[in-house]
Amino acid sequence: MGKTNVDTSIEFARQLDKEDELSVYQHEFYRQSDTIYMDGNSLGLLSRRAENSLFYMLDSWKTQGIDGWTNGKHPWFYLSEKLGEQSTYLVGAKKEEVIITGSTTINLHQLLATFYKPNGKRTKILADELNFPSDIYAIKSHLKLRGFNPEEHLILVKSRDGHTLVEEDIIDSMTDEVALAVFPSVIYRSGQLLDMKRITEKAHQFGILVGFDLCHSIGAIPHSLDKWDVDFAFWCTYKYVNGGPGSPAGIYVNEKHLPKAPGLGGWFGSDKTKQFDMDLTMNPSETAGALQIGTPHVLSAAPLLGSLEMFQEIGIGKIRSKSLKLTEYMMALIDKTLIEYGFTIANPKEDYRRGGHIYLEHPEAARICKTLKQENIIPDFRPPSGIRLAPAALYNTFEDVWHVVQVLNKIMKEESYKKFENKREVVS
Ligand SMILES: *Cc1c(COP(=O)(O)O)cnc(C)c1O
Repeated sequence: MGKTNVDTSIEFARQLDKEDELSVYQHEFYRQSDTIYMDGNSLGLLSRRAENSLFYMLDSWKTQGIDGWTNGKHPWFYLSEKLGEQSTYLVGAKKEEVIITGSTTINLHQLLATFYKPNGKRTKILADELNFPSDIYAIKSHLKLRGFNPEEHLILVKSRDGHTLVEEDIIDSMTDEVALAVFPSVIYRSGQLLDMKRITEKAHQFGILVGFDLCHSIGAIPHSLDKWDVDFAFWCTYKYVNGGPGSPAGIYVNEKHLPKAPGLGGWFGSDKTKQFDMDLTMNPSETAGALQIGTPHVLSAAPLLGSLEMFQEIGIGKIRSKSLKLTEYMMALIDKTLIEYGFTIANPKEDYRRGGHIYLEHPEAARICKTLKQENIIPDFRPPSGIRLAPAALYNTFEDVWHVVQVLNKIMKEESYKKFENKREVVS
């Protein structure tokens, strides 16, 4: 499937679907028959298994009341730990190191409260200017809480091209004044996959603790957090993991840091056997579970039971391999049929540097996205001029990709996007 010689016929797309061993899984999801969903990197679709596990949890509330905490197939009291164990395959970790709790941003707050220990001249935090704004807000608030000026103590690695980071630039910013570094695994806009192993290795040479935000790689790309010796990580579960809007997030703490007293204490971080002693001195769990704060969001977590089961069954290696084929096919079709209309593929092209989505740049991106929606294709607009298209390995087909490029072509040829204003909506 080279760039120049890609077969642009629908028959070829269908042939690719026939050869795809994951194609059966699309039937497990609620794909709307008239719509092609390309937004799995913002909110994944609902699967029947996720729906069933949510119904199961509702029923346990209905029939057991308070006893649901300890009874039934999935007692709520142990749910966060159980989901953590189910997630170990996605991140390359042991069960003691993973807990499902909170939200991405809250988990970063907890990890900063726990791991950011400014000491002597080692006071700075290293991040990058392409990171998700919420992460930067969290980091700045911790600097301020400790009395440091973020202007001076937050070092943001700059992007040379506005889309990607160069690992050398990250490494060049490491000094013995940096206490801790936080980087995304995959940059949310351009889809660049960073070399987490190399960044971790270098950071450790400078005595810097490293954490990664896995929001845009979890469920799409394999991770080996233990093997890479990453210190901590955090991620959401509503994107490629398909946990549903507001499903709780993940925390990984490398076992070499365990047991670790949480920076922000709360009774659900207690050792399970002691939590109900109601002692005014906290007895933290010896696992990553110590970083939990309050009562778990049981109903929001429930769909993950069904969803994570699917990932375990298939294996993340196969998911990554299909994802790479889907995005490669999409890039080849775009190269052949859309470049003449002024689109630029702004995500990295190489397999080892590319995440799960395609990032297109076009000056008319906002209204092209509105037109795509009118044509029942769900893209994701990122201002000022970005279109993200995420063909998800579990529920998108090669024929979906073919259709999306076909419709984009039609929109550009007919200039039908001109009937919309080139402005973003409130949620984009
Ligand atoms: C989606 C995303 C978040 C979202 O954080 P929430 O606390 O779940 O709202 C944070 N960081 C990155 C990189 C993301 O992609």
